[in-house]
Amino acid sequence: MIKVVKFGGSSLASAEQFKKVGDIIRADESRKYVVPSAPGKRFSEDIKVTDMLYDCYNTALEGKKFSDKLSKIKARYNEIIKGLGLSLSLEEEFKVIEKKFAEGAGSDYAASRGEFLNGKIMANYLGYEFIDAAEVIFFNEEGEFLADKTNVLLAKRLKDVERAVIPGFYGAKESGAVKTFSRGGSDITGSIVAKAVRADLYENWTDVSGFLVADPRIIDKPEVITTITYKELRELSYMGATVLHEDAIFPVRKEGIPINIRNTNAPEDEGTMIVESTCRQPKFTITGIAGKKGFVAVNIEKDMMNSEIGFGRKVLEAFEKHDISFEHVPSGIDTMTVFVQQSEFEGKEQAVLSEIHRLSQPDSIDLESDLALIAVVGRGMKACRGTAGRIFSALAHANINVKMIDQGSSELNIIIGVSNQDFDAAIKAIYDIFVLVQI
Ligand code: ASP
Repeated sequence: MIKVVKFGGSSLASAEQFKKVGDIIRADESRKYVVPSAPGKRFSEDIKVTDMLYDCYNTALEGKKFSDKLSKIKARYNEIIKGLGLSLSLEEEFKVIEKKFAEGAGSDYAASRGEFLNGKIMANYLGYEFIDAAEVIFFNEEGEFLADKTNVLLAKRLKDVERAVIPGFYGAKESGAVKTFSRGGSDITGSIVAKAVRADLYENWTDVSGFLVADPRIIDKPEVITTITYKELRELSYMGATVLHEDAIFPVRKEGIPINIRNTNAPEDEGTMIVESTCRQPKFTITGIAGKKGFVAVNIEKDMMNSEIGFGRKVLEAFEKHDISFEHVPSGIDTMTVFVQQSEFEGKEQAVLSEIHRLSQPDSIDLESDLALIAVVGRGMKACRGTAGRIFSALAHANINVKMIDQGSSELNIIIGVSNQDFDAAIKAIYDIFVLVQI
């Protein structure tokens, strides 16, 4: 049995957290490959080391003195080393970093040092081999991740390595320049390593006990989702639920390697299993609820619209021309509505409206702003009659006006549009009817 374990920044923010991580790894001997993030926040006003590095590097770029900022970063690492009682010194590494910053090695290089140094400490602490991600994770010169090359070379490199630490978040271009993934990208590294070693499980350790059925800022102590499919996860993450980097599922998805989200601060909790498919029915009819505020509905009316072939295409072309992506397009007999993000649309609204007029000659266009979209997601909905009915009666009881309804053809989700101000109340009403009533 092989497990790849990735630890997020808050799991490695201090020596105390490192010790918890050490206990977790030692408790299961199949936890052979470890992917650490950089030290995160120790308390809510704290600054992540990655952000300190970006800031320090920007100071260097401006030609200003940056040694004080670098010393603060060094102090964070030294505190961890001391707290763990290690005899390791990162003096040499910091000398190199200082020199490279002065030479303008690039902000990706700068940010990657957070994981690099944490990986050094982790390897020393565990007695595992340290493998620099720049030697095994590859990008092309345009900065695109080279999945096949990485998989072949990483698998080869790890073949005879029993236990290793591979820092998350970065790799290198073919020229040797360090390149990072987008923020939160250590999740992706963990997934890449899991694929390369054909792991049985990819454990992603963070500071929550898995995916929650709803946002804890809206629902007090929501239930944890025990098992979720990749498709459901995609729907919920798209609508704003974040625990895992979105791109982290791609490497393991086609390999059938499940991801287990776990909590470093509550290791006895089973967390959430993310799987391709499962015959385990969710505990509740719905798997999760997520949503986003800040949409505009562009309502377009034209007599006999439905018999005009190509009308929808012309309307959408107007949005495409102005580089605006649309979220949903519910339609009626002679009406069609396009939902777009308000922040993306606002500055271009008049140009888009005249484009729609020019391309499709509608009778009228009307805008409705400050709308929210809520996705109710669940593989269990397909087999369950009355789900939509329950949602809408719950919303009606809560006095919430539903502006839009859209059920995906997969029957995996129902999207509801409400006004921004009804957002929280709508999520509460849906959570209550499906979760609280059933507990
Ligand atoms: N340290 C990086 C960040 O803060 C990457 C990661 O933690 O996954 O975004």
